[in-house]
Amino acid sequence: MKCPVCQQEMSVWKTDTSHNSKTGQLYDRTLYHCTQDDTWAKTEIPKSSKTLPNVVAAR
Ligand SMILES: [Zn+2]
Repeated sequence: MKCPVCQQEMSVWKTDTSHNSKTGQLYDRTLYHCTQDDTWAKTEIPKSSKTLPNVVAAR
């Protein structure tokens, strides 16, 4: 992911999984950080519901 401020490639700060409690949809969340100008960005990509085991949905 490119930084919107300086257009440099941002480094991945961390990755985790987020959850929409209304729909039960899980997302692969990635947080990016640009150290040069302290800019943060986040992407949330829906996981495929076809591969979603029930045990994860109940967590
Ligand atoms: Zn930047």
